[in-house]
Amino acid sequence: MNTATPVTDLAAVRALYELPFPELLFRAMQVHRTHHDATAVQLCTLQSIKTGRCQEDCKYCPQSAHHPDAALQPEPLMATERVLEAARAAKAGGASRFCMGAAWREVKDGAQFDSVLNTVSGVAELGLEVCCTLGMLQEHQAKRLKDAGCTVYNHNLDTSREFYPEIITTRTYDDRLETLATVRRAGLQVCSGGILGLGETVEDRFKLLHELASLDPQPDSVPINALVPVEGTPMAENDPVDPIEFVRVIAVARILMPRTMVRLSAGRTAMSAELQALCFTAGANSIFLGEKLLTTPNPGRHEDFTLLRRLGMRPLGGEFPEDLSQAPAEDTWARPCSEGCGHDHAEGGDHHHHHHHHH
Ligand code: SF4
Repeated sequence: MNTATPVTDLAAVRALYELPFPELLFRAMQVHRTHHDATAVQLCTLQSIKTGRCQEDCKYCPQSAHHPDAALQPEPLMATERVLEAARAAKAGGASRFCMGAAWREVKDGAQFDSVLNTVSGVAELGLEVCCTLGMLQEHQAKRLKDAGCTVYNHNLDTSREFYPEIITTRTYDDRLETLATVRRAGLQVCSGGILGLGETVEDRFKLLHELASLDPQPDSVPINALVPVEGTPMAENDPVDPIEFVRVIAVARILMPRTMVRLSAGRTAMSAELQALCFTAGANSIFLGEKLLTTPNPGRHEDFTLLRRLGMRPLGGEFPEDLSQAPAEDTWARPCSEGCGHDHAEGGDHHHHHHHHH
């Protein structure tokens, strides 16, 4: 748990963000080393257990019922046994945390929530750390989740308080903060972060970081997402986030929230190995593993383990999974193609592609 929240004003956040890049990076690296093993990355898997038809109107989200043009196959709540199958696969695949997301506006007591609680217990029994993201919830519900074996609850602030009404109108920023407070009171860890690329200003990013860092205690994990623009949503044509600015945000998050796990979340498919390496260097120490993040694409696990190997890094609290524990004999492993095609063979999928079963 994070204690001793450093109280920093917005001007100080801006000053950090505007440091010359090498200076900012160096400071972030120092903080990172003081509180974490800078060579380890936490591997989480995110499973959508109820997809689509969400009543909220988050402009970026294909799961919102307000964006019927987004091509998305809605799915009702998954049965416990099906989720457990996915959790076992995630564990075998090297994940240490299993996050379950339901596109609900809020948790409602009843058969569906009981089923989720049952699923949570099952996943916890597999020895995975359990995280849930189910929308707003009340304290008795948060307590039941904790009692069932859930460790962490995710609820993102998304962006700054000022910009937020441009993105979501169906619930307020204060609703979000209240949910986070409820989660804390129930004794769950808090995971809360935001999305870059929504059309926010750089100032909005300072404000988001400031808001997150001012939570007392600070969030245990902070996912930083880069928008994955999805056709059929109002953000389909948004410009991509400048990669250097993205790294700056990661570095500032690391400095402001020294003990927090900073998670590189959505948007990694659009990031080069070099950019991700910079993010890890700047203090990101958690990623999502698996081909999908709820509904948007994510690098395959093989690609991620290859990247970790190239960087000489390792999974936090775990080993490389058995099927990927040995570098293959071919000398194309994690090296650029000798024919000069510009692709890494290991990432190109022709030699070592690992096939995942989608359910
Ligand atoms: S981001 Fe979450 S709350 Fe918002 S529409 Fe999507 S599923 Fe619903």
